[in-house]
Amino acid sequence: MREVQTVTGPRAADDLGMTLVHEHVRFRDEAVAEQWPHLYDAEQELTAAVEAVAAAKAHGVRTIVDPTAMFGGRDVRFMRTVSERTGVAIVACTGIYTYDHLPMFFQTRDVDAIAELFVRDITVGIQGTEIKAAFIKCAADEPGVTPNVEKVHRAAARASRETGAPIMAHTRPASNTGPRQLEIFLEEGVDPAKIQLAHTGDTDDLDYILPLLEKGVYVGLDRYGLEMFLPLDRRNETALALIERGYAERILLSQDYCATIDWFPPEAVEQLIAGGAVREDWSMTLIFEQVLPVLRERGLSADQERTILIDNPRRWLVGS
Ligand SMILES: [Zn+2]
Repeated sequence: MREVQTVTGPRAADDLGMTLVHEHVRFRDEAVAEQWPHLYDAEQELTAAVEAVAAAKAHGVRTIVDPTAMFGGRDVRFMRTVSERTGVAIVACTGIYTYDHLPMFFQTRDVDAIAELFVRDITVGIQGTEIKAAFIKCAADEPGVTPNVEKVHRAAARASRETGAPIMAHTRPASNTGPRQLEIFLEEGVDPAKIQLAHTGDTDDLDYILPLLEKGVYVGLDRYGLEMFLPLDRRNETALALIERGYAERILLSQDYCATIDWFPPEAVEQLIAGGAVREDWSMTLIFEQVLPVLRERGLSADQERTILIDNPRRWLVGS
């Protein structure tokens, strides 16, 4: 029986149930939060996280994969509290979420030294707890696969090779980052079945998506609600086109929702919603309300739905 590490301990892979593969119970800059804690309201953050997760649970979600890594304010004790309050399993990661910047600490150390830290999170525990990471997160965005980004990717790959943990890579189709990110993982010998290219659904260009899928990876159609990258209707068309081409077993649906996020001052968030860049109903339940009903109407079978929401997250997590 394969097990998956959650913030409340190991769980049988077959018991994960319906899983949202990419949501954040809280996203913030850990350095700002550490230096100016008065800016943050812990009670309000916890309430928002519990409400978001409980709403997903009401739709049958039993597990949430939260890819908040270094620079996203990863805090596994906070995640554990949210999990305990809601009864929803939360799966945490190790890794570094950077588009280029690396602290001097990592600039002066080599790939293997970084990989060793990832391995420790996976095998010993995170932040002084016994909570273990179940997967490894890395990212490439507008700057592309810079030398620093490549270093983190190779560290993620080596930690994956050593532990068997899968990888989730934040990608940016608009900057064509996915192919190079995948190439690095494959150069390092990572099994494609352990690789998830997150945010691939930010494009509906099948000429970009299909060659990635042909290599055997999972792709995230995981930013439903973030209209600035691609509107919901076009995301649905992409999902349907991929299912029609036989890739139901390789796609992952999620929303990349952040119960709280400190990236913007409150008035800027209101503007993003008012301007249509972010849907007002962006949440951990949007796919149940606005996506699955449409996909079902267009022919998504109950079997395919189970494959996408239950089997695919589990198979990616255990690497098959
Ligand atoms: Zn995310």
